[in-house]
Amino acid sequence: MTGWDPRQGPPGWGPQQPFSPPVIPPYQPTTGLSPWGRPARHSWEIALLVVVIMATVLAYLFALLFLLFGLMNYVVLGLVLAPILVWFGRGTTYSTQRLNAVKMSPTQFPEGYRMVAEAAARFGMATVPDAYVVLGNGQINAFASGHGFRRYVAVYSDLFEVGGQARDPDALAFIIGHEVGHIAAGHVSYWRQLGMFLVPFLPLLGNALIRSQEYTADNHGLCNRPDGARGAMQTLAGGKYLNSLVGFDEMADRACQEKGFFIWIVNAMSSHPVLTWRMWALRDRSRHGNMFWRPGGPPPRPAVAAPPYPPPVTGPPQAGPPTDTGRYGPSGYGEYYSSYLPR
Ligand SMILES: [Zn+2]
Repeated sequence: MTGWDPRQGPPGWGPQQPFSPPVIPPYQPTTGLSPWGRPARHSWEIALLVVVIMATVLAYLFALLFLLFGLMNYVVLGLVLAPILVWFGRGTTYSTQRLNAVKMSPTQFPEGYRMVAEAAARFGMATVPDAYVVLGNGQINAFASGHGFRRYVAVYSDLFEVGGQARDPDALAFIIGHEVGHIAAGHVSYWRQLGMFLVPFLPLLGNALIRSQEYTADNHGLCNRPDGARGAMQTLAGGKYLNSLVGFDEMADRACQEKGFFIWIVNAMSSHPVLTWRMWALRDRSRHGNMFWRPGGPPPRPAVAAPPYPPPVTGPPQAGPPTDTGRYGPSGYGEYYSSYLPR
């Protein structure tokens, strides 16, 4: 695709762009940040992964050495048993969905079922992952994981309220593309998660690796449904009822405006890109998402003034007051999945 400024986001993101992208972008063999190429892996991801795996393997070797010399404590035991712990955690998480979740099918949540199949086809995956709907209870999240050779995504039910046919199906397709992207990029394989066992104990390095994976997954989400990126981010920022009141560009612009030591440290310690930076990365397709230093700016603005954001969605009255409780998923799933939001 040519003729568009990648720093202003994909064509079709504003009414000043006459071009309207197709629902399923044409396949392109090249990898890049364009919404129509194959989704790019974040440029930092592999290098960070190698460093983390080396640190983890070193820790395993030291643990075995301690064990040989009879030095035993919980850290040594945890490391030696890591292959079993990871296997057990993945198995129980998968079985929780098999026992409690609604499995998407042609007759249950057919829209989501179709979106998962479309995303898998879009990323050239041989097998379509299983897909489940889990009770969100007001929370907005989704995650991807696997066990054995099975791979699956789980989407919180509240996202269907956001992404249901009456609301914003493009946002739902972006989020499903993000989760299927985690699978396509290999983030949820057993061996990878075993190699990343040390991540929770490496606050800067480990979180940097997770952030780069999230940018990679966002690239997949954008490739799957470019028009859904804004709606998905607006929902993250404002919740499922007030999402349409969030000005995407106004918020993304702050990525280059908010500065200082604590801005740096909050991003550096975050498992997911901070929201303003994440929005900026989705809009600025000329480079990979910022990892440690805030984006330089300001970006070139559209020649015409941005149109007013759409009014709140009208339609059937919502039952009860907004119940969004925050941006954090449940903590009970351990570290055996890649989620849409910080946990
Ligand atoms: Zn994710």
